[in-house]
Amino acid sequence: MTHDSTAPSRLPPTTLNVDLGERSYPIHIGSAVMGTAEWLAPYLAGNQVLVVTNETIAPLYLERLRLGLPDHLEVRTLVLPDGEEYKTLEQVSRIWDALLEAGFNRRCTLIALGGGVIGDMVGYAAASYQRGVAFIQVPTTLLSQVDSSVGGKTGVNHPRGKNMIGAFWQPKAVLIDIDTLITLPSRELSAGLAEVIKYGLIRDSDFLGWLEANMQALRGLEPDALVSAIERSCRLKADIVAEDETEQGVRALLNLGHTFGHAIESHQGYGQWLHGEAVGAGMAMAAELSHRLGWLDDAQVARCNALIASAGLPLEAPQGMEADDFLERMRLDKKNLDARLRLVLLESLGKACVFDATPSDMLQALLEEFPR
Ligand code: NAD
Ligand code: MG
Repeated sequence: MTHDSTAPSRLPPTTLNVDLGERSYPIHIGSAVMGTAEWLAPYLAGNQVLVVTNETIAPLYLERLRLGLPDHLEVRTLVLPDGEEYKTLEQVSRIWDALLEAGFNRRCTLIALGGGVIGDMVGYAAASYQRGVAFIQVPTTLLSQVDSSVGGKTGVNHPRGKNMIGAFWQPKAVLIDIDTLITLPSRELSAGLAEVIKYGLIRDSDFLGWLEANMQALRGLEPDALVSAIERSCRLKADIVAEDETEQGVRALLNLGHTFGHAIESHQGYGQWLHGEAVGAGMAMAAELSHRLGWLDDAQVARCNALIASAGLPLEAPQGMEADDFLERMRLDKKNLDARLRLVLLESLGKACVFDATPSDMLQALLEEFPR
């Protein structure tokens, strides 16, 4: 495979727009597009560019990305350690240091080459450096391609909580080359598929049917299937974000499975269960609770579970995690406006709602009875 700018891409790139008035930006999805000049150049603010990536991704893709940056630019790179435990203000500080040491001004551009951890940190560095500079997302995990790179949430973890420090800051563009998924571990691919399934469950029953028919193609990295799924997912997220940029309303639906999922992640210790795995089990729990409320019938729950399982995701809660372990952690959820638990549940497959009034005995019974 060649990566010079004259090489034809195997698929025509697909483009969609995130509509946010003056802050609107495009998402380009294609194959064999990284490293071509026309891919990055339109979105660079000036001549100063800092590419930030991590130790795992640098040997795989840094050279290829740099091929697309014209010679006359002043390009610096910064390679951070890999891992959610490094999504900290300390690492963001290293980005600020690199920018200041290079003497970069307000017309510089940051490029985030990596998964959601890199994207969130680079976005936050861009939001705060000299009160805000341009940045471009080049997401390399399925999760970051369908979720974290779209919507403008940026930030870092604090010892007291995940994503507790951050800002809303939109990129100039999201540039997705699906070829990066070839090197992604299959567990990470499944984790990304959890968020893809989530979009279908909350907003798009046609997409759910499409996913049932195409799950094996997606897991086999078939390019057409990947581009379609990423495009549809980004479209669904972009529409929700355009309606509700700062999460006053409909954006909360994106948390389907996440209240249960976050409880699982934090109980297990971050890194044991991948986020998407916890969301997979969490969506199964949300479906079961929706069933107990009389909203989903048996066949709908079975369909939902079959789709989650076909993506390689768990349908059980962790062994040894008790109902109280869930409740204790679920009460800390950011969505709770006061003492009540707010859960995203399913009125039907393809339609979610935020439910404030889950009877606590029903929730308790679900948490006790759900399979481990
Ligand atoms: P990640 O960034 O940690 O990437 C997962 C692993 O895959 C890492 O080890 C990474 O180095 C490796 N990797 C990345 N691309 C690769 C490739 N192409 N080939 C081989 N290995 C590769 O995790 P993630 O799942 O991408 O993102 C999770 C993060 O995203 C979390 O911090 C979460 O809070 C954040 N997030 C943010 C938003 C948002 O709206 N901003 C939404 C969802 C998640
Ligand atoms: Mg998520």
